Amino acid sequence: MGSFNVSQGDFLILLMISINVKGESVNTLKKSYYRTADNWSGFCDICKRLFQHFGTYPRETPRLFGPFYIQRVYCVNCKKSHTLLPCFIIPYAQHLDVVREAAIVAICFDAHTIEELAELLDVDPVTIARWWRIFRTKAGVITMALAEKLANSPQLSDWVSGTFGTWPRRTRKILELIGRCRATFSSGFKFCDFAWVNILNLYLLFDRKGVTDRDPDAECTG
Ligand SMILES: [Zn+2]
Repeated sequence: MGSFNVSQGDFLILLMISINVKGESVNTLKKSYYRTADNWSGFCDICKRLFQHFGTYPRETPRLFGPFYIQRVYCVNCKKSHTLLPCFIIPYAQHLDVVREAAIVAICFDAHTIEELAELLDVDPVTIARWWRIFRTKAGVITMALAEKLANSPQLSDWVSGTFGTWPRRTRKILELIGRCRATFSSGFKFCDFAWVNILNLYLLFDRKGVTDRDPDAECTG
């Protein structure tokens, strides 16, 4: 199990944990999360004191998974509480990240229209369109985070030599890089690629007011 204290600027809210899971069922995932959250320990990145467990709160989503209880931890010194989220959940998301990943993959490989995906994944087409917009918004910071991860690897030269072109092409490139990073650094990781990205940096896959790491060229379309 790895634990990651994720903070950017003054938007310090969430901690991220990853969980080893033996089974496939939702109940096994939940139990595994509870066990991992119970046993989790970490230090405040501001004052370096040990976090204390600080109760739970109920969460209804993602669909097919909720309701379940999210563990909170608290720094007595800084008086800040944090949330321990399992890696298969993107912050604020109502669906498991594996569903979002499937949609992004299908869009960038032009495998299905958004309407078809809505049917296949049983997700509102407006939601899928929003996922695609968020991914484009975050493409720049995801790329930077992955390039930083690979900075000392010979694979980086392959990566930077590419050109982006359209958004689907750029997205395929990013997905390829995620796969390479994951194989290089976390070959035993059992969840989907987006879960791996969550662990790398919890802020990469969601877009929320108040988070200031937007890609400056996110508005362009291709
Ligand atoms: Zn503290």
